[in-house]
Formats: sequence, C-alpha cells, structure tokens
Amino acid sequence: MYKYTPYSYSKISLFQKCPYAWKLAYLDHIEPKKHPSLELGSLVHKIIAVYIESLKDRAEQSNHSLLEKIIAQYAGDKQDELLPFLSSIKSFILLPSIEPQVEIELALDSNFLPCDFQSDDAFVRGKIDYTYVIEDTAVVIDWKTNQVLPCEDEIKKDWQTRFYTLLLDPLLPDNVTKFVVELNYLRHSKVRKLEIPRDSVNEVRKWILSCVEKIESEENFSPTPGDWCSLCGYLHRCSVARSVLAPVAEEPLIEKLPEKINSLEQAIKLAGALKVIDQVRTKVHNLLKEWVAEHGPVQISGEVLDFHKSETVKWETPEQKAALAALLVRNGVNKEEIWDLFSVNKTAVCSFLKKKNLKHLLEDALATGEKTVNQRFCFRKSN
Ligand code: SF4
Repeated sequence: MYKYTPYSYSKISLFQKCPYAWKLAYLDHIEPKKHPSLELGSLVHKIIAVYIESLKDRAEQSNHSLLEKIIAQYAGDKQDELLPFLSSIKSFILLPSIEPQVEIELALDSNFLPCDFQSDDAFVRGKIDYTYVIEDTAVVIDWKTNQVLPCEDEIKKDWQTRFYTLLLDPLLPDNVTKFVVELNYLRHSKVRKLEIPRDSVNEVRKWILSCVEKIESEENFSPTPGDWCSLCGYLHRCSVARSVLAPVAEEPLIEKLPEKINSLEQAIKLAGALKVIDQVRTKVHNLLKEWVAEHGPVQISGEVLDFHKSETVKWETPEQKAALAALLVRNGVNKEEIWDLFSVNKTAVCSFLKKKNLKHLLEDALATGEKTVNQRFCFRKSN
C-alpha cells in the first residue's frame, strides 16, 4: 500500500529539504558523492561503538589506552582528524548496573509494531547509537559530529529525537514513562538534553503518516536549494546548482540574469540561486584557503589571495582600560574626553545590567543612548 517504504528519519528529512535530491537518491538510486564530513562522522560513530562494546566485554568503565588502540586500528592516517572529538569520547564512562545497547537497528511495520530490520513489512526504521533503561526512563544518546552547535530551539523543533522514541517505544516495559534524549555534540563537548513524555509517541506517529502522505503523493520532485546544498551529494548534477556554477565553468551567469525581477516565481528562483551561490562561495573559499596554506599565495588581476594579517588591539579588562586612561591623564588629556575612548554598546550595557541584577533598568538605560535602526538584507529562518 505504500510505494517507498521503509522510511528512515534521514529519508523523510531529505524530502523536506529537497524533493529533487530525494528522487535522485530513492527513485533513481543514484549514489551520492559522499561529503568528507559525513565520512568522518561515520568513522567517529564506528570508533565509539567498538570502544563501548569492548568496555562492555571487559566490564570496564573507561580505558584510554584501549581507545587509542581502537583509533589506530580504524582511523589509519585519519587519526589527526579525530582530535576535535577525542576529549568528548575520552570522557565517556560506561555506567555499571545498566544494560546498554549500542548501534541497535530497529524497524516497525505500518501498524507501528516491531518487525525485522530487513523485512519487507518494515514501514519505518532507524539506528540508535546508544540506549539503556534506568528506572522509569529510557535514555537515548546520539553522538553528533556537527561543525555547528544548534541552539536549544532548533533542537526542540527537530523530529529526529522523537523518531527515536517511536522506534523504542514498543520494546520498553510498561513502567517506563519518559525518554531522555541526549544529543552529545562531540566537537564542542556539549550535551543537549530533551525530556520527552512517553505518551507523546502518538504525535510522532501522526507526524510520520503526514510526511509519508506528502512524499507518496509528490509528482514534481523539484530542487529546493537551501543551506543544506553544501552537504548535498548531488550538487554536481543538480540543475539549479549547475546554472549557478556556470561562472565557475564556462558560461557567464551574469548574462543570463534578467534586467529586473518580474514575478514572485522568478524571485523565488533567484533567492534559491543566491543560497547556492553562498554555499559555492564557502566551498571555494575553503578550497583556496587549503591550497594557499600548502602552496603559497595566488595572484590574479593584480591582487594577491593570501593570509593577510591585520592587527587589532582591544581594551577589554578594567585594568587595561585604567592603564590607558592613566597614561592619557598623565600626559594632559582631560578625564571627560577619555570616556569617548571606551565606547559603550547595547550588548555591553545588557550584560552589565544582567551581571549586576539590574535588568529592570534596561529600558531606562537604553533610553539614555542614541538609538539607530539598521536594516540588513539577509536570509533568516522562517517559522
Ligand atoms: S544541490 Fe541543493 S537544490 Fe540541488 S539537489 Fe542538492 S539539495 Fe537539492
């Protein structure tokens, strides 16, 4: 009855980002180009899984020399790339008196009942990095290798955490009343925790059914560029991305641009193109940075692309400010004039009032300054 089962969280989320990329992956079965950061992510997950399984076998809570051996065995010449994650992995402690499961593969049929991961009946399925039950709580730990640490709000809106609760729910004893999902951002040594009541699993079922309905009724599978294009394995074959990449190839894009935008449809297309250009710019910038670091500057049209140093001096601490003020006063500068040197901004006033427990003065304090409103033309997250 469903055309494209089984559905994983990443399969649903890819469709939400870009139906065209989804079509290439799941209908045309075209292998995506793997982004190096995704490969590194898989390696980190593998190493953690092997490490935890080895600790379980040895009944040890942690063992750094064992971890180093595992890294040497699995990472080979990529060991340096693992350095940003190492302190988080080393801080892992296998709690005694729990029975954790590592990298478990779970699948549910269309009635949301457990079935075999490889079964034709599998409607949804997924892998959980690490999970255990303690008293009335099912704890789920997800190792994250992201460069960027998302804010709390983004995490709360993300359905991935809830997807885990759906998969685990049928396997849990009745006394479990809640889930605690810990997203462990290994690069940043930061853990974001979410508590999710067990009785909210029904909402996840409804969410999945509505997503699946959209996917199964889709006909156009159009590309919808966004921030995610930089990680897209189909960037090289995407029509939108190709037209934007034209200047990097042969045809100058600028000649294809209209004199003026004449319709909302055209505006949407160009806004999408702008997103891709941003991604391409970042990618090209990083490639050139690596090249210049290794081979030296690149010169074009009388300009040199290189690491140009610029010096900034800041007076952050009261001692630094006092030392500068004392020097100036000693040399005949009027005290009143020195204030101008230490300009005060809104952020500084806000944090000062917060620190002094004087937040109630914020409005009055800001009214003493001169307010200017600047407009920035940029992308912002829509609700
Ligand atoms: S590059 Fe962007 S728009 Fe093109 S297929 Fe990938 S995600 Fe979609």
